[in-house]
Amino acid sequence: MSPQLTPRINIAIDGPAGAGKSTVARMVARDMQYIYVDTGAMYRTVTLKAMEAGLSADEASRVTDLAESLDIRLLPGPEGQKVIADGEDVSSRIRSLEVNRQVSHFAKIEGVRNRMAELQRRMAKEKGVVMDGRDIGTHVLPDAELKVFLTASPRERALRRFKELGDNPGVTLEQLEKDIAERDRIDQEREIAPLVRAADARLVDSTGRSAEQVAGEIVKWGQEITGTISAEEK
Ligand code: C5P
Repeated sequence: MSPQLTPRINIAIDGPAGAGKSTVARMVARDMQYIYVDTGAMYRTVTLKAMEAGLSADEASRVTDLAESLDIRLLPGPEGQKVIADGEDVSSRIRSLEVNRQVSHFAKIEGVRNRMAELQRRMAKEKGVVMDGRDIGTHVLPDAELKVFLTASPRERALRRFKELGDNPGVTLEQLEKDIAERDRIDQEREIAPLVRAADARLVDSTGRSAEQVAGEIVKWGQEITGTISAEEK
């Protein structure tokens, strides 16, 4: 079937930090020729810009103003998604330890969440989007045709993040595990659009499984829903 004639769906992949969402989501998007949207990168960008402007997460209305006027562009790249904020490439700076530690506090702000959700819904309007985050299946795209809640054990999630930090991680594995647990706690306990599995999301535990295996399973579900899987592939 040609891509133009294939019915397109939206795929929501939510879950805690370090579960492998972005790697898996990128692979699914590649295989299905869909657009990948990393919503965590958007919250990280607001956090970075607010911190650079000297704002704290307590200054909700000023941070909301900043989020509303910020031009965020997500561009596909070989090394993942490139993030351009007001014309400036912030892709690596949004991954700093400081942003890691602050982002969940900024992501609690109602005005910031409303603005991000509005941008995200706009991106998904034409379908054919794989979006990863915390509240995509529950809040941003409750009508997404395929929802996945991706988890892994806390130790494995910390290990994956640790490896991503390279030769000079600047943090111990134990500290990283604590940071991740704290971020998850704040994400789960916040009032607006907390991190929670949607009732109709398929639960996938990626502990001990490769990203390719997990992505393959999700692509198969996607093909079943769009009716593009052949009988012998089932
Ligand atoms: O996915 P990533 O780890 O980059 O997300 C960074 C943070 O952004 C999360 O810990 C969470 O606080 C926030 N976030 C969110 N809602 C989303 C995506 C991310 O609150 N949809």
